[in-house]
Amino acid sequence: MNNKYQVLKKYFGYDEFREGQELLIDSILDGNDTLGIMPTGAGKSICFQIPALMLEGITLVVSPLISLMKDQVSALNQSGIHAAFLNSSLTQNQYKLALQYAKEGRYKIIYIAPERLMTEDFLDLALNSNISMISIDEAHCVSQWGQDFRPSYLKIVEFIESLPSRPIVSAFTATATTEVKDDIIRMLKLQDPTTLTTGFDRKNLHFSVQTPKDKYAVVSKYIKENEDKSGIIYCLTRKIVEEVCERLDREGVAVTRYHAGLSDAERHKNQDDFIYDVKPIMVATNAFGMGIDKSNVSFVIHYNMPKNIESYYQEAGRSGRDGEPAECILLYAGQDVVTNQFFIENNSDNEGLDRETFEVVKQRDRERLKKMTFYCFTNECLRDYILRYFGEYGTNYCGNCSNCMTQFDTLDVTDIAQGIIGCILDCRQRYGITVIIDTVHGSNSAKIRQYRMNENQYYGKLSHVTIPRLRQVLNHLILTNYLNLTNEEYAILKLTPISKSVLDDNELITMKLAKEREIVPKEKKLKKATKGSSKNKNPELFELLRKLRTDIAKEESMPPYIIFTDKTLTQMCDLLPTTYEEMLTVSGVGEVKYSKYGERFLKIINQYMRSSKKV
Ligand code: ADP
Ligand code: ZN
Repeated sequence: MNNKYQVLKKYFGYDEFREGQELLIDSILDGNDTLGIMPTGAGKSICFQIPALMLEGITLVVSPLISLMKDQVSALNQSGIHAAFLNSSLTQNQYKLALQYAKEGRYKIIYIAPERLMTEDFLDLALNSNISMISIDEAHCVSQWGQDFRPSYLKIVEFIESLPSRPIVSAFTATATTEVKDDIIRMLKLQDPTTLTTGFDRKNLHFSVQTPKDKYAVVSKYIKENEDKSGIIYCLTRKIVEEVCERLDREGVAVTRYHAGLSDAERHKNQDDFIYDVKPIMVATNAFGMGIDKSNVSFVIHYNMPKNIESYYQEAGRSGRDGEPAECILLYAGQDVVTNQFFIENNSDNEGLDRETFEVVKQRDRERLKKMTFYCFTNECLRDYILRYFGEYGTNYCGNCSNCMTQFDTLDVTDIAQGIIGCILDCRQRYGITVIIDTVHGSNSAKIRQYRMNENQYYGKLSHVTIPRLRQVLNHLILTNYLNLTNEEYAILKLTPISKSVLDDNELITMKLAKEREIVPKEKKLKKATKGSSKNKNPELFELLRKLRTDIAKEESMPPYIIFTDKTLTQMCDLLPTTYEEMLTVSGVGEVKYSKYGERFLKIINQYMRSSKKV
């Protein structure tokens, strides 16, 4: 039998394991329950796919995402592994046939949607097969405290318990908060699991936040400056998706769109257009992307701030999966907070929950939104902010985010802080952010008069300071615990034990404020470094290989990256392999793929070398 290194090379074409993979694989092969927590793109799939190939019986992979199942099963079949999926995208006949083949033992790995586990047909198969492992992908879906709780995940344990003998249970997720982790272990009844959390940092991603007056102008400019790149633009609502997509389309950009309001057929087509690089720019709501493993996405722009850091990191993390430098740009506006608040208060996803749990979940959603909003205002390192959110401690300075790269000015904001804190004290801590800011700024609105805030001692005291600057200082006071924002639907500003020191002791409050700067300076810099896909030594060859890959992709009806990733093609251009042995040293080329396509690629490389007289 093959050992794990041979399996890695033969089926996946890789020479080395990445951080954490080996430990998880060994744990499973030793028969232990195993929990792997790794960020998107870290390579979780291999951690259960390799043991699945090495264990005796069948491995069931529970996954909530239909598109992901299809993609992974295609990739496995391409690599010569017998796998299938069972979910609602199959017709009744296809489903029956797949079950039939499964019974005959034709598949080593079967992907299944959680709702199907306890169905009669499937139980019949499960009870009569040798199931050596159950792997639960996106395991955080079992937790009500996670951001995508799915009640059907609660059935998994029931299913496992109905089997004649308990298989190894392995679970994987990219959500790392301690709460969710504990919940996964408890709800899935993992038995003394080996648990591994790998670093969440994705060093190749550059993070930035901008607050432009005209978001569309920023997007349009960015796309023009990065013409040959593929990217995703996430918007909060379908309406914004339609608008942005249409405007880009009118400007001649090869763009497509995706949201839940489109027909199945259109969504399917648009997704394929994006994956096959027919339309390299995708404008979408958060309905898009779960399980999309397109390796050459080189930027993700958030046209609106998403609802929480989990979603943000997951969506932004869909860029740079090939390890190349990638950009994650968030375009913030105050309206984004309001829209998200509306979604939270009117969320119908959790209707199945009892009232009390429902309220708790809502409360957590508000808390998450608050932390997301702080991300847009913090002057600290953005990467550090995200990593701390997930319970990791990074360095304070990453040198690869908009905050680290901007030179900060340290300003004395004591007088502004005094005005804000004094105003809150004077009105006996009864109001939220907007009322306080309007008061110190001296607004003459009906609301201010109705609350009689125009009689507040501090009314109009800070009329010389702009409202955005007031907000920045106020946010800073919350972040540094000089103020507390209550966690209710109408969040109220409260003083903390240290607030008064600002008024009494004349404590100096300084904060770092970014200097005024040009929008998108970083993009230009990055463009030079990675112009096109021609970062390799032989750009013309790259184009030839890419063309061959496109042809093969069409022949096989597969996305190009499933044939070979850009990274693999780049390596071919750098190493210029001319023989079977040399070709196998290229990362991403395994024996199975070689036998399918290797010679066609070798032929192009040999021709190229002859024509450019390299041999
Ligand atoms: P995740 O599920 O953690 O988001 P995937 O399992 O989809 O990530 O893997 C992301 C990408 O990394 C895939 O293209 C995969 O083939 C690649 N990959 C995984 N393991 C390795 C490895 N050991 N060496 C090189 N590439 C790898
Ligand atoms: Zn940084």
